Amino acid sequence: MRITALETLCLSRLHEPERQWITSRYRTIKADCAIVVIHTNGGLQGIGEASAYGLPLLIRDWVDWLAPTIVGQDPCDPRIVPHPNGRSRAHDAAVAGIDTALWDLRAQLAGKRVSELLADKPLDRVRLYASGGCRYDWRGDPEQVIEEALDYAGLGFTAFKFRIGTEWAWDGVTVDRFLGLVRELAQAAAGRLELMLDGNCRLTEEQATSIAKELDRLGFAWFEEPIPRDDIDGYARLCAAVDLPITGGETFTTVEEFRPYLEKRALDIAQPDAGLCGITEIMRIAEAAYRYGVDVCPHSWHNGLMATAHAHVVAALPNPRVLELCMHQGPLQWEILAERPPIEDGWLALPRGPGLGVRLAQDLATRFPYIEGHYAVQVVR
Ligand SMILES: [Mg+2]
Repeated sequence: MRITALETLCLSRLHEPERQWITSRYRTIKADCAIVVIHTNGGLQGIGEASAYGLPLLIRDWVDWLAPTIVGQDPCDPRIVPHPNGRSRAHDAAVAGIDTALWDLRAQLAGKRVSELLADKPLDRVRLYASGGCRYDWRGDPEQVIEEALDYAGLGFTAFKFRIGTEWAWDGVTVDRFLGLVRELAQAAAGRLELMLDGNCRLTEEQATSIAKELDRLGFAWFEEPIPRDDIDGYARLCAAVDLPITGGETFTTVEEFRPYLEKRALDIAQPDAGLCGITEIMRIAEAAYRYGVDVCPHSWHNGLMATAHAHVVAALPNPRVLELCMHQGPLQWEILAERPPIEDGWLALPRGPGLGVRLAQDLATRFPYIEGHYAVQVVR
């Protein structure tokens, strides 16, 4: 069997005004998607979602550039797998889409699930956490994040991650005011939802330390990217200061980028994203992290093909924990697939079929034509 062509589907859907979401100073106005399709002369297709944060048109450009080294080759030949470089997000996202599509193809050829190629005894289902809390506005109704959390609990989710809201400087938000909201949320969700907080690298070490101690007391599952990601020593001090796991690494695409964080004990949980680094590299990262007693909980955003690929990864990890599911992507998220994997009581069941076990829906380019321009606009107040 030979690879005959690589194609990149670039898709978008505008969010309705009430579905737009805002964190920090940015309002996200559309859902984007980039899918790499690898065609073969045997009629099989492999598919892989690349993180749309690599920007779909740039991803397509890199896929087209990489294609001549892959077209004409055997999909099972390990020498054709491109590698992320940790320097260009668009390049690495393109690599990730190609790598995931190759895993899909290889597993189909082997008649196995991708998770079964990655581990001897993978799980059949993975626990999801609802990832949201990107709508609440300190100027409007910050308690909206509590209603949102309870909505997810009502849908059967057992864990919820939220962010720190709109730009604090706009409304004089302090650590004390923020922690007041956190305590209200924790009380409302008690016994129903495990909670995680994502700082999106926006806090100072002093702010982050105060918040981490309170989250620790409240029994949070983790505190993600509290401070700017280059401050490895700051991360190491935070890890040492609290029992609560400190997590990060969602933008790192190589095991080499994780190495100093592992060696300095600067992360308790690593969060690489297979949509940015590929399945091959995320498993390398997981193996290295595990040597340091660090688990991997993939960063997983955007659409359902990504969620499905990450479900195979989590199912195959040495110590599977939870899988992130983006709650703000809108209908594009699952309508890209011909059938969605079942989600019940907050668990996603891995599809039975070989490969990733999902197929693309028909007419995607017609139904969700790509909308040029950035997915977010800066808000000025
Ligand atoms: Mg994050």
